[in-house]
Amino acid sequence: MKKIYLFFALFLALSGPVYAALTYNTCLNYYNRGNYAASKNCAAKLLTANRSNLQIMYLYAHSLLNLGEKSAAYAQFDKIRTISPNSKLGKESRKYMKQCQTINTSSAAAKKQDYGNYLADISYNCKWSAMPIRVWIQPGTKYTDTVVNAFNEWQYVSKNKIRFISTKSESQGQILVYFEENLNTSDSSAVGYTSYAGCIGRFFVGKSRIHLQTRTRGQIVSQKNMYGVALHEIGHALGIMGHSKNNNDIMFPTTNIIGVHTSRRDVNTIMHIYSK
Ligand SMILES: [Zn+2]
Repeated sequence: MKKIYLFFALFLALSGPVYAALTYNTCLNYYNRGNYAASKNCAAKLLTANRSNLQIMYLYAHSLLNLGEKSAAYAQFDKIRTISPNSKLGKESRKYMKQCQTINTSSAAAKKQDYGNYLADISYNCKWSAMPIRVWIQPGTKYTDTVVNAFNEWQYVSKNKIRFISTKSESQGQILVYFEENLNTSDSSAVGYTSYAGCIGRFFVGKSRIHLQTRTRGQIVSQKNMYGVALHEIGHALGIMGHSKNNNDIMFPTTNIIGVHTSRRDVNTIMHIYSK
């Protein structure tokens, strides 16, 4: 069973001929590094000279969306769609206009549900029976500390109900973490996925494997983004099968609007699973 973590899906649509290549790429680099305030300002400056450059507008819109400025993002996507309804960016923009609205709705819902859980949206018929869970992390990567910290966050928020111990032996590991430049998945926008151990009764047997992508469209994934993706995939490996519909939760399926830490609802959800 594969859980795909969608991430940076929009970069596909950002490819193609680039107007004002150098400067646009400067803005895009800010964006790819997760500095949305800088990419927003950068794109805004470019737009003063190229008012109807769709690609810059599109980058600007996504920067706004990532900064949570949803109505401004909506208006910008709407502009692109109006100027060029049949282009790739026009069509993409229409999709993102819907997303801007969804986010608005789910953010409102999110506030109400901050102290709830999302058990209704996932399956959770399996969990690890014995603590600590043995974790093996593929050596020779600069992301080791980041991934260890992500495991530690789950341990900490579960008040040690879930515990991990690291092992140097891949064959001894129960949750195994691998790094790959490019994930070999059918979805080119996936940056992480988890394949599950088997389940007997209500308990995992064997090994769960987490695969983390270290590059996205040629850019090295930042430690911050790796942390968020690792947290999310560990959530799957612990037995959260499926996703939250609430973009405040680490188990929301995309990172566009994801928090970098587990939310109250993530914690409530995992605690429910491991308390039963
Ligand atoms: Zn996922």
